[in-house]
Amino acid sequence: MNDCIFCKIVKGEIPNITLFENEHVLSFLDIMPAAKGHALIIPKKHYATLLDMPHDELKEVIEIVQKIAVVTMAALPEFDGFNVLQSNNEVAGQVVPHVHFHVIPRQKDDKLDFAWDQGKAEMEELKKWAELVKEKME
Ligand code: 5GP
Ligand code: ZN
Repeated sequence: MNDCIFCKIVKGEIPNITLFENEHVLSFLDIMPAAKGHALIIPKKHYATLLDMPHDELKEVIEIVQKIAVVTMAALPEFDGFNVLQSNNEVAGQVVPHVHFHVIPRQKDDKLDFAWDQGKAEMEELKKWAELVKEKME
């Protein structure tokens, strides 16, 4: 996809601050960070969403997500935790349509908020949702 910002980053057409790179995966710092050390991890090949990714490449990406989280926590001791965020499609907040995982360092009283109002559901309703999903499972 020619217009994809992350494909341009992979090709070196847009500069980035790289944290890690191998044959299939690239990690670089987010240009509009939610926190110090906010990193992105992407497959080098263009896939729009998680649903499009082959399992072997996804495994490689998720391993690097963990590696980046481990080294970020070690490098930035002022942070006590982190969120891994991965959004799919515009409705879910995905702005760049090239699969990416965010690793966002967290500290007490930071102003970041990934919380939602807790919903309510009866066990019977949960069972029905589960049946719908499990029908599609191979
Ligand atoms: P999304 O909202 O799609 O989950 O996240 C896209 C992320 O990409 C945003 O956090 C945004 O700051 C980051 N981003 C967008 N364009 C660039 C860019 O050109 N360089 C870098 N390093 N990050 C970018
Ligand atoms: Zn792309």
